[in-house]
Amino acid sequence: MEFDTKAIRIGHHRTNEGEHSEAIFTTSSYVFQNAAEAAARFAEGRGNIYSRFTNPTVRAFEERLAALEGGARCVASGSGMAAILSTGLALLKSGDHIIVSQSIFGASVALFDQYFQNLGIQVTFVPLTDIAAWEQAIQSNTKMFYLETPSNPLAEIGDIPALAALTRRIGAYLVVDNCFCTPALQQPLALGADIVIHSASKYLDGQGRVIGGAVVGHPEPMDAVYRFLRTAGTTLSPFHAWIFLKGLETLSLRMQAHSAAALTLATWLEQQPGVAKVFYPFLESHPQQTLAKAQQTAGGGIVSFIVEGGQERAWQVIDNCQIFSITANLGDTKSTITHPYTTTHARVSVEKKAAAGIVPGLIRLSVGLEDIKDLRADLYRGLTAKS
Ligand SMILES: *Cc1c(COP(=O)(O)O)cnc(C)c1O
Repeated sequence: MEFDTKAIRIGHHRTNEGEHSEAIFTTSSYVFQNAAEAAARFAEGRGNIYSRFTNPTVRAFEERLAALEGGARCVASGSGMAAILSTGLALLKSGDHIIVSQSIFGASVALFDQYFQNLGIQVTFVPLTDIAAWEQAIQSNTKMFYLETPSNPLAEIGDIPALAALTRRIGAYLVVDNCFCTPALQQPLALGADIVIHSASKYLDGQGRVIGGAVVGHPEPMDAVYRFLRTAGTTLSPFHAWIFLKGLETLSLRMQAHSAAALTLATWLEQQPGVAKVFYPFLESHPQQTLAKAQQTAGGGIVSFIVEGGQERAWQVIDNCQIFSITANLGDTKSTITHPYTTTHARVSVEKKAAAGIVPGLIRLSVGLEDIKDLRADLYRGLTAKS
């Protein structure tokens, strides 16, 4: 089956009711025919037992997303952060070392830097694009590399095959958060990653409604992640799984539309007076455009740009847009506009922000599915505002 057929058909096991759309199973437990069957299910850990770790709607979402990522198995979780936590605690122990890209989601930085270090897991942060820095950071106890590509908000590209060559050499896991591309645009497992992380709250839902996450990968690490989730209860709700199932059905159409609109806006922004720099993977001016095009089939929906005039000017642009919503969320049909310096990266020190290129004039867009003419007019209104 091709990608779009899988996105619509995989994972639906129709019941005797003959329902055409997937059912939502709202039950915490399941009835066994007799005591022997109950014993067998617990012994084998197979079949429906209890919805903390077995639910048919959640399983349908897991089967579908596994098929789209090209992974043997998917384990869904209650949020993207729960997916990262479950992966880390399932596969790492005190005394292990992990190497993490500096350019990852803020809460992920805090999870590794604070809580994992508290548990005795050593963490080294390195620049995403500097392969030599990843290699130099390797220790005898390095068990995992962790990254997002493209990065948020500056659209740096992590070279997945090059990093996979390093992790394979030392027998470590290569974990890629594929939130920004989704499998519709990039399939990290095929490029050499071992595990893919998702915040399903973003593009997999696609309409900004619910929180959820997922981990996809090869059987051996996924079995460990599943056993952790069964024990710790980082579970996805069947209601949310159903929303994500519906979201996956339109995923590739949406990602193509987000990407086309984002490329149009990024190209247009580069020509606007008062715009100093634009960050988008598929722009000719992007220093890693060739790598981006080798790994991704399109650029995705996130565009960032720096305006001349610093924070004051950036806030003016943001406040004068009338369609773009001022919110830090992304991956929605509704376009959003953010000032990373004072919101998503507010907790990061001024020095670290400077080192990471998060400057006061930076604005991040998540380009939604409104008409591109309206979005361009809205940004023009912001860019030409006098106060
Ligand atoms: C939002 C996000 C997360 C966290 O996901 P939640 O569903 O909000 O817990 C992780 N990684 C990336 C790249 C994100 O954008």
